[in-house]
Parts: sequence; structure tokens; C-alpha cells
Amino acid sequence: MKKQTQSLIFQTEGKNKIRQWHFSYKKFAAIICSSVCLLGILLFLTADTLTGYFYRLKLSKIRSNYFHVTTTLTNLNSQLEILNNKIEELEKQDTELRRFTGLPIIDNDIREVGIGGIRLSENFNISLSGKGVNPGVSNLEINIDALTRKVKLELNSFDDIHKKILENKEKLNFIPSIQPVTEGYLNSGYGYRKDPIDGIRRFHHGQDFSVFQGAPIHSPADGTVKRTGYRGGFGKYIIINHGYGYQTKYLHLSKINVKKGQSVVRGEVIGETGNSGRSTAPHLHYEVIYNGTPQNPLNYFFNG
Ligand SMILES: [Zn+2]
Repeated sequence: MKKQTQSLIFQTEGKNKIRQWHFSYKKFAAIICSSVCLLGILLFLTADTLTGYFYRLKLSKIRSNYFHVTTTLTNLNSQLEILNNKIEELEKQDTELRRFTGLPIIDNDIREVGIGGIRLSENFNISLSGKGVNPGVSNLEINIDALTRKVKLELNSFDDIHKKILENKEKLNFIPSIQPVTEGYLNSGYGYRKDPIDGIRRFHHGQDFSVFQGAPIHSPADGTVKRTGYRGGFGKYIIINHGYGYQTKYLHLSKINVKKGQSVVRGEVIGETGNSGRSTAPHLHYEVIYNGTPQNPLNYFFNG
């Protein structure tokens, strides 16, 4: 008996002809399997391409965000550096004002303790290459923390100064605090220098102002004239006693407007500059003396 074969028949019918395709089950199964495999490969390739595309898209977004973060970090550090410079200026003013009001100067060691021993990063420019942003962020945090502590310390100090000024309003009138001449310019300062006359290195106890003859000399604070007159090296001179341990001295004058024992107030004209005594050109030699010791007069100028 002839073995019966089973097959699948696909048929298309046109206007004039009919077409038929005969497939055995085996052949049909093979076609289906191949199609599924092909579809699988196609899907895999498509998915792989799409994944690659989205990955690159995401990567470019991350790169752009990273660039933004690093730029922001660098900018923040630059601003912090500017802020730090301004605070350092305030610290200088703080020192001047503390000296002026008789408060103890905050030395650098105490400042270090005040900011909790945290040092500002010496280099504000964070290197971000290779190590990611974390070191940059940590550095920024440390700098902000140190600056915050510095500002707190300064605020407390200025608060002390303010209280002291209110307490000592009266006393402050007697502390030298303005330049005695508004003309001319600063010349030889306080400290060692080569003597302009004999060339020998000596300590210069005052501040010289190069100024034309006849410029008015103002008293830098309230006080009483202690002595006036003429002495070899000094030329015409005035010494004012301001009390609270302060005296000021003015040498090489051309004119003296005050007398011993006379009271003067800050800003009052006490004489005129000149070239008398041991002097090579018209100038004013000005000294500030505290408890018998000459001080650097520059530390007693608060009018710029
Ligand atoms: Zn001098």
C-alpha cells in the first residue's frame, strides 16, 4: 500500500491563473524555524544598535553635566579666593583698629585656633583632571568651612572693637590718629636707614614727610603742648602730650603756633613745616611715642 504523504498547500488565485505551493510538514517546520532565527538575529542586531545609540547619548549628557559641574566648581573657588582676599584686608584693618582702641592684637596662632586649625587650601584652583569631582568638592567644603570660621572670628573681633570704642569714646580723642600734614608725601619711614647726612646706618624713630616749607601741621589728637623751642638737631620743634601714655614730636619746623601748656584739639594747626636743624631739605619729622617708646607712626594714620 502506498504511503500517504501529508502536505500544506498555499494557493493564490489571479484572474487567469491559479498558483499553488506545496510544502511538506518537515519543510514547513524548517522554514518557520529559519524565519524565527532570522527574526531573532535581526532583533538582536537592532537592539544592540539602539542600546549603543542611547548609551552614547547618555554618555554625552553625563560629559556635558560633568563639564558644567567642574566649571561651576572652578568658578566657586575663584569667588572664594576673592572673598578670602577681602577677609585678609579686613584682618589688617582689624589689627589697626585693635591697636587704635588699645585691644590686644590677634596674632596668627590665635587666628589659626579661631578657625579650628583648618587651613584654607593654598591653591584655590582645583585640579579636576583624572580624579573626578570629589576631591574638588571636598576642597571647596574645607575652604568654605575655614572662611566661615574666619568671618565669625572677624565679626566677634569687630563687635569687641565697637564695644571698646563706645566705652572709650573720650579716650580716643587723645590717641594720635590722623596724619599731621595733608601736603607732600611719605619719605623715610620708621626703622633702620642710611642717614642722609653722614651715610651711617641708624634707627630712624619717626616718619618723614617731604613737604614744601610753610605747610600747616595739624595735631593728630587732643592734648597739651609739652615743649616747644629750638634745639641743634631738631631745629624748631614741638612736643605734644596727649595723655594715656601718648606723645607726638614734630621737628625741623619753620614756625611754631603754640605755647607750652596750651591745650590743642585734633586737627588744630600747631605750626608750619620747614628745614631747620639737621635737615637736608624741607620736610617734617614726625614721631609717635607710647609710654616712652617710639612707635611706627604709620600705625596711627586712620585717615588714609
Ligand atoms: Zn626724620
